[in-house]
Amino acid sequence: MTADFAIVNARIRTMNPAHPIAHAIAWEGKTIVALDHDVQAACDSTTQVLDAHGAVVTPGLTDGHQHLLQGAVFAQGLDLDRVGDLATLRERIARERERIGPDAWLLGFALEYAAFEGVTYHHSLIDEVAGPGPMFLYALDVHTGFVNDVALRISGVDAPRQLEDASIIVCDSEDRPTGELLEMAAMRTVLDFVPEPTREDRLTWYAKTIADQNAVGITEIHMMDGDMSTIDSLRELEVREQLGLRVLQHHFIYPYTPDEEVQEMLQTSSISGDGWQADGVKFMLDGVIDTGTAWLEYPDSHGEGLEPMWPDLSLYHSRAREFQAKGFRIATHAIGDRAVREVLDLYETLPKTAARHRIEHIETSPDSTVARFAPLGVTASMQPIHTRWVAHDMTDPWSQRLDATRCGHAWRSGDLFASGALVVLGSDWPVAPYDPRMGFFAAQERRAHDVTDPRPVGVTRALTGLQTLEGYTVNAAIAVGAQNERGMLKVGYVADLVMWQDDPSVVAPADVVELPVLLTVARGKIVHRA
Ligand SMILES: [Zn+2]
Repeated sequence: MTADFAIVNARIRTMNPAHPIAHAIAWEGKTIVALDHDVQAACDSTTQVLDAHGAVVTPGLTDGHQHLLQGAVFAQGLDLDRVGDLATLRERIARERERIGPDAWLLGFALEYAAFEGVTYHHSLIDEVAGPGPMFLYALDVHTGFVNDVALRISGVDAPRQLEDASIIVCDSEDRPTGELLEMAAMRTVLDFVPEPTREDRLTWYAKTIADQNAVGITEIHMMDGDMSTIDSLRELEVREQLGLRVLQHHFIYPYTPDEEVQEMLQTSSISGDGWQADGVKFMLDGVIDTGTAWLEYPDSHGEGLEPMWPDLSLYHSRAREFQAKGFRIATHAIGDRAVREVLDLYETLPKTAARHRIEHIETSPDSTVARFAPLGVTASMQPIHTRWVAHDMTDPWSQRLDATRCGHAWRSGDLFASGALVVLGSDWPVAPYDPRMGFFAAQERRAHDVTDPRPVGVTRALTGLQTLEGYTVNAAIAVGAQNERGMLKVGYVADLVMWQDDPSVVAPADVVELPVLLTVARGKIVHRA
């Protein structure tokens, strides 16, 4: 046994409670073979030895909720992150039209609801600057699409339509579509007319995104969407040696996903590559609070929020049972308090298997719901960075939909952690930036690093720095049943690790966002070096 690589003179936070701090680590192939005083014996003249000069090493970070491949495609369009007013939005759209030419589809993403400054969307707000070609903008949460008149015309969307689930084509008082499309089935009425990029283009974008994410310390992703074609992409990236991080795919099942397709997906829990597996499934039980599509215990300030995304709840239940019987890990998007409760009710009735089920987002929940996660063994998959669109003073579109009690119960990652629940952290990119350092800040400060109001969102516990690191490492491994392979730096475990200028779990939150990421190793291979 000879190590290929070793890091010495480091401060290694192993996340292994039996041996929390080490100073040297060595690995052979993709496996850690030695720590501390055993490292020297594991090395010979062929081993590459890196002197860390006191830098900090942690396990590689897992983004516990992300849309890696979709994000890579979105990133080719207009990034509207942090555009907060209509004038800037118009200017950015006009500039993008100039860049892409008069006829191309103008595609944008990460649009904040606040950019409309409280005005109800109508395509006439945008038509002129969007120019002669079609336009489709995704809201930041990918739950709403905003289109121009040309896009509506090309798609033949000119009247209200009954859709397969609770999605809505918003229309004015004369039944003419306004260009606002609530939820995926509504967005698809227009998206179906957007030309598909070629496979080669997509694969190039995916590889670039993966490398960019390695550069901020990410070595694993719980990918919350996908289907059979996604598996094809992951396979191809692996063949090309461009899959520099592990992907755990969760098939996305809609109420209208054809049975034939579901049957095919049900067979994938036993197939995998070296860097990917497809043994998860994702359902979306509700939408989002900002547009009234979240499922709430009692109505929001617009009298909305009383419908689940699945019109026939028993279909969601039976689909979940089919997948759990095949050993799948079930993830359900549940944002409103009612949705979260309903998912827990379902999970409680499922037979116990090795797979740990999970709830994604959990944006507002009362104490009685928070208390159920730990005893039921349900993973709380949280994205503290989503507090970036919410203000302490409750003047933002999210808070305006809710009352003070439900705003107070926002993103209770600290409370869930304290209750003994398994909390896994992520970004939901391209919904929010994937950089985990922004996540470290938001988890501890309960707000974004780039807002002026320093007061936290909600009135609940923040996570500590160490809890945050657990949420990105050990907890993420436990959530997918990989606690004996990953999430810690321990002999026999996979060499997924990151070297930082300083310890991200200890530095002041104000400093973590700019903390240099010196080296990222995924499955024993160096995938980033500053
Ligand atoms: Zn998501």
